[in-house]
Amino acid sequence: MTKRVAVIGAGPSGLAQLRAFQSAARKGAEIPEVVCFEKQSNWGGLWNYTWRTGTDEHGEPVHGSMYRYLWTNGPKEGLEFADYSFEEHFGKQIASYPPRAVMFDYIEGRVLKAGVRDWIRFNSVIRWVEFDPQANDFTVTVHDMENDHVYRERFDHVIVASGHFSSPNVPEYPGFNQFYGRITHAHDFRDAREFSGQDVLVVGSSYSAEDIGSQVWKYGAKSVTSCYRSSPMGFKWPDNWEEKPALVRVEGKTVFFSDGSSKEIDSIILCTGYRHYFPFLPDDLRLKTANRLAAADLYKGVVYVNNPRMFYVGMQDQWFTFNMFDAQAWYVRDIILGRIEVPTDKQVLLDDVTERETREEADPDVKYAIKYQGDYVKELIAETDYPSFNVDGACDAFYEWKHHKAEDIMAFRNHPYRSVITGTMAPVHHTPWKDALDDSMEAYLKN
Ligand SMILES: Cc1cc2nc3c(=O)[nH]c(=O)nc-3n(C[C@H](O)[C@H](O)[C@H](O)COP(=O)(O)OP(=O)(O)OC[C@H]3O[C@@H](n4cnc5c(N)ncnc54)[C@H](O)[C@@H]3O)c2cc1C
Repeated sequence: MTKRVAVIGAGPSGLAQLRAFQSAARKGAEIPEVVCFEKQSNWGGLWNYTWRTGTDEHGEPVHGSMYRYLWTNGPKEGLEFADYSFEEHFGKQIASYPPRAVMFDYIEGRVLKAGVRDWIRFNSVIRWVEFDPQANDFTVTVHDMENDHVYRERFDHVIVASGHFSSPNVPEYPGFNQFYGRITHAHDFRDAREFSGQDVLVVGSSYSAEDIGSQVWKYGAKSVTSCYRSSPMGFKWPDNWEEKPALVRVEGKTVFFSDGSSKEIDSIILCTGYRHYFPFLPDDLRLKTANRLAAADLYKGVVYVNNPRMFYVGMQDQWFTFNMFDAQAWYVRDIILGRIEVPTDKQVLLDDVTERETREEADPDVKYAIKYQGDYVKELIAETDYPSFNVDGACDAFYEWKHHKAEDIMAFRNHPYRSVITGTMAPVHHTPWKDALDDSMEAYLKN
C-alpha cells in the first residue's frame, strides 16, 4: 500500500517539503501520497499578507504577523532557492531587499512551476494529531472550514511545518490596563502610517523592534523610543530615536524606565517575540523548545526524538530561511523514501541534539552563529540531491549585511550583494529605502 504523508502548513517550510517530493517524483522515484493541510485560503505562510488581526474569516486565530511595507530584513542572497533563482523567476537580477509582495511572488513561482497546488487542502485546520503505536501510524483530525466539516484520516508520517512566529509572547506591565494610548503586539502590527505624528514606544531589542521601529520612523512617527531588558540594539539611530533600559511601569500616557527616566508616549508596540505553539499536538508529540539554532529534541534538526516517524521543518531560529527549509525538507523526504537511515537507538538521537546545543553555546558571537547555521545547511545538503550551492558565500552576504547595518541602520537596504546561485551582482535599487514609500511589486521592479 502506498505510504501517506501529512504536511501541516503551506508556508515556505511546507512548500519546501512539497517541492522536495515533487522533485524526487520528477526524477522517477516512487513517492508517497502527500497531503498538505493549510488553514489559510492561500499558500505562502507569513508571506501571504492579511490586513486582519485577531480572528480570520472562519473565526480562527490569524496566522499572519507580516505588515505592509515590509522589506526583507536580510539580503535575498542569503535565502535564495538553489533550484530556482531570482533571475529565473523575474527574468533579470533584482535589488537585494525585496518587499513582501515581491517575495510572495518568488515563493509562489517555484511551486506553481512544480505543479503541487493540488496537493494542498486549503481552509483546513489541523485540530489534533495522535499516534497509534499498534498500527504505527497517525490519525489526523482536520476541520474543513469551508464546509464546516470535521474528519479524520490516517498517515504513516506527519511533518509539522506550521511556523513559530505567529503566536505572540505578550508580557504585562503595571499600568497597562489604564494606559491612555494604544498597546499592540508586533503580531498585530499592520500599517506604519497609523503611527504617523505619534510618539511610539517599541518594547524589545530584537528584529521586530528594530524593523517595526524603523517602519514607523520611515512613515512619519514623531519619535521612536525602544527599550531593552538585557542589552541595547546599539545602532546609530536617527535624532528622533532613543534607546532606554527596561520598561518598568506605565501611568496615564507616561512610561517609566529602569534608569528612573520617563517619557510621554502615544502608542506602545510590544516586540516581545513569539512562542512555539502547537495546540493540535498531545504531550508525546509536541515539540517544546526555545527559539534557538539547535532546537530541542530534533535529531539533525528535523526528526522528533520521541517519535522518529514525526518531523518538524523550520523550527529553528533563523539566519538562513528558505534554503535551510529546503535542506531540511530534502533530508526528511529521503528518510521517508528510505534513502537515509535514522538510528534506532534513542540515545544516539539525543546525543546528536546535545552535541548541537553544546556547539551552539560555545560562542555567543553573531558571526559564529551565522557560520554555525551555514554549516548545518551544508551538513544536510551533502546527504541529498538538493543542488549544492556556495553556502559560505551566503554567509559572507550575511556578514556584509551586519557590517552595513552597523554603518547605517536606515541605509543598509540600499546595498547590493552577489547571488551565490547565479554569480550575478544585484543592481542598486532605484530609490533609497527610506524614501521608497510605495512597496508594490511594480514600484520595486521598475528600472
Ligand atoms: C514579521 C516577520 C518578518 C520576517 N521577515 C523575514 C525576512 O525578511 N526574511 C526571511 O528570510 N525571513 C523572515 N521572516 C521569517 C519567517 O519565519 C520565514 O521567512 C518563513 O515565513 C517561515 O516559514 P514557515 O513555513 O516555517 O512558517 P510560516 O510562514 O509561519 O507558515 C506556516 C503555515 O502553517 C499554517 N498553519 C499553522 N497552523 C496550522 C494548522 N493548525 N493547520 C493548518 N495549517 C496551519 C499557517 O497558516 C501558515 O501558512 C519573518 C518573520 C516575521 C514574523
